[in-house]
Amino acid sequence: MSFTACRAALTGVSMLALAACATTTASQEVAPEAAARQTPAPRESTAFTLGTDQPRAPEQLAMRFDKADLSIKVIPDAKAIDAVAVLDFTATAPLARLVVELDTLLTVSGVAVDGVVVPAGRWSNPEGRMTVELAEPLAAGETAQLRIAYAGQPRVAPMAPWDGGFVWATAPSGEPWIATAVQPEGCDIFWPCIDHPLAEPGRVDLHITVPSNLSAPTNGKFLGKVDHGDGWTTWNWSAAQPNTYAIALNIGPYEEVSADYHSRFGNVIPMSYWHLRTDDPAKVQGLFDQFAPMMDFYEATVGPFPFGDEKMGVVETPHLGMEHQTINAYGNGYKLDGKGYDWLLHHELAHEWFGNQMTNRNSDDMWLHEGLGSYMQPLYLRWLHGEWLMQAELLGQRRGLINKFPVVSGEEKSEDEVYQGDTGPALDIYNKGSLIAHSLRMLIGDEAFFTSVTRLVYGTATPRPGEFQPRNASTDEFLAIVNEETGRDLTWFFRGYLYQAALPDLRQSRADGELALEWVTGDGGVFPMPVEVEIDGRRETVAMAGGRGRIAVPEGAHVLIDPDNKVLRRLEYIEAWKAAGGANP
Ligand SMILES: [Zn+2]
Repeated sequence: MSFTACRAALTGVSMLALAACATTTASQEVAPEAAARQTPAPRESTAFTLGTDQPRAPEQLAMRFDKADLSIKVIPDAKAIDAVAVLDFTATAPLARLVVELDTLLTVSGVAVDGVVVPAGRWSNPEGRMTVELAEPLAAGETAQLRIAYAGQPRVAPMAPWDGGFVWATAPSGEPWIATAVQPEGCDIFWPCIDHPLAEPGRVDLHITVPSNLSAPTNGKFLGKVDHGDGWTTWNWSAAQPNTYAIALNIGPYEEVSADYHSRFGNVIPMSYWHLRTDDPAKVQGLFDQFAPMMDFYEATVGPFPFGDEKMGVVETPHLGMEHQTINAYGNGYKLDGKGYDWLLHHELAHEWFGNQMTNRNSDDMWLHEGLGSYMQPLYLRWLHGEWLMQAELLGQRRGLINKFPVVSGEEKSEDEVYQGDTGPALDIYNKGSLIAHSLRMLIGDEAFFTSVTRLVYGTATPRPGEFQPRNASTDEFLAIVNEETGRDLTWFFRGYLYQAALPDLRQSRADGELALEWVTGDGGVFPMPVEVEIDGRRETVAMAGGRGRIAVPEGAHVLIDPDNKVLRRLEYIEAWKAAGGANP
C-alpha cells in the first residue's frame, strides 16, 4: 500500500494517483434517496476499533484462532451488511471467556457458543472489544465455536485506503462498485476477529452474497457460486492463513481475465484480474501482460509466490490500492509514468512476500513490509532497464526522507503511531527502509543480501512451493540472519540507520595532502561503514575502522565521495533543497 495503500510511497507519480483517487471518491455523490436513508447523526467507530495492532487481551493470548467462516450479505442500496461469523478457537491455557473485536457500528443480534445461545448479559461489546462468557471454562487444548450474527451500516471510508472502511462507489456503467480497505483500522471494521498481526486465523472461508448482476472476487481459492434465484448470488472462497487486514470485499460489474503462470519452481499458478466491464480492453491486456514478468522477478529475487495453490489475484477498485492477500486492490487507472511498468501493481504484489507471507510481529517492524517492499521497485527497474533507472528511483526515494523519527523504535507500537508523522517515521518506513536495504546490499553483497531476505520471508534459504507457511518476523530476527549469512556483527549498521532519526553524517576535512573522514551517527555510536573515494578518477575504498579513516589526496586533486551511491548518508544539498520547500519533481 502506499500511504497505507498499501500506502504506496508517495513519489511524484503516486501523488498524481492519489489526487485522481480523491477526485473519484468525491465525485461519487450519494443519491438523494440513499442519503435520506442514512442515519442523520454522525456515526463513528470507537477509538479502540479505529486502532490496529494494539495489545491483545489476556484471553486472546490464551487462545488460537483456528478458523473463521464468514457469511456476509452486502446490500448496496442500504450501504449495509447482514452477516454471520462462525469462529473456531482452541484454548492454549485455561480460558473462562472468549474475546474478539467487532465495530460497535454493527449491531449484534445473536451470540452462541457450540450451538448454545449465550443470553444477553453473558456477552458485551463495549468500545468494540467483545467479551463472551463461557458456560464452562475451557482447559488447554479444548475448543469452542463462537457464532455471532450481526448487521448494519459499516464504517464508510473517509478516504480509502489511508482512512479506511467501506467504499460505496458507482461504476461508470451505473452498477454499484464496492470495496473494503481497512489496513489502518483492522479487520474488526466488518468482521469479528483479533485485530493483531500475531492473531491470523488458520483459515478464513468467505460466503459473499451480492446482487446477481455483480461479481464478488475475494481472498483465496474460488469454491463456486450459488444463484439463489431471487436476485442474489453467493460467492464462496477459502483462504489459508490470511493476514488479518487482508480480508477484503470487492463487488462490482467485473469481467475476469485469467491465465496460468508457469513458475520457475515448477508449479502452475492461476492468475486472474477482475476489471470493470467498461475498461479499455487494450489497457486491461497491457496491465495483465505485466503479471507474469513481475511474478518471475519476485520469484527470482525473493522466492516462490507464497500462495501458489490459491491464486495470484488482482481486482480493480475505486481506491488506489491495498495488499489484500491473493486479491490485491488495483486502482491506478492504467497510468503510464515512463518507467515501463505499473508501480502500484508492483508495490501491492511485493506485499504478498513482504506483509502477507512474512508479517511483522508488531507495527514497529513495519519497515520490513514497506521498506523491503519499496526496495523491490528500484530492483525491478534494474531488472527491466538497468542501473540508470534503479538509481533514478533511489533518488526519488532519497528526496522523500523525513528523518524525524527512527524507522524502528525498539518498542511495541500501534500502527497509527508508526504511520502518523507527528508520532512516528511515517513515509520513512518506505523510502528510508528501501535506501537502508540498498546500502545493506552494497555492504554485504548480493549473495548474502538476497539469501538473508529469503530466510526472513520463508524461514529457510531454500523455500519450495508447498513446503512453507506464512510467518511472523522482526527487525531483530533480520539482524540475526544477516549476521549469520555474513559471519559479521552488523549491529552497528542496524543501530546507526534504523534506530536513529538522523542519517549518519560523513564529516570530511582536507589538509596537508590528506582527506580525513569520520562518521557521526544519531547516538554517537561507532559506524565503521566503508566509503569509496574517487581521487582524480582513481577509486579507493576507505575501510573506516572505528568510524574514521584517512587517505592521501594530492593538492588540487578532485575528490568524489561514494561515486556509485552505495552509502545512505546525510547530504547537505538535499537538506538545503528541502529547507527551500523542495518537492519531488
Ligand atoms: Zn505498501
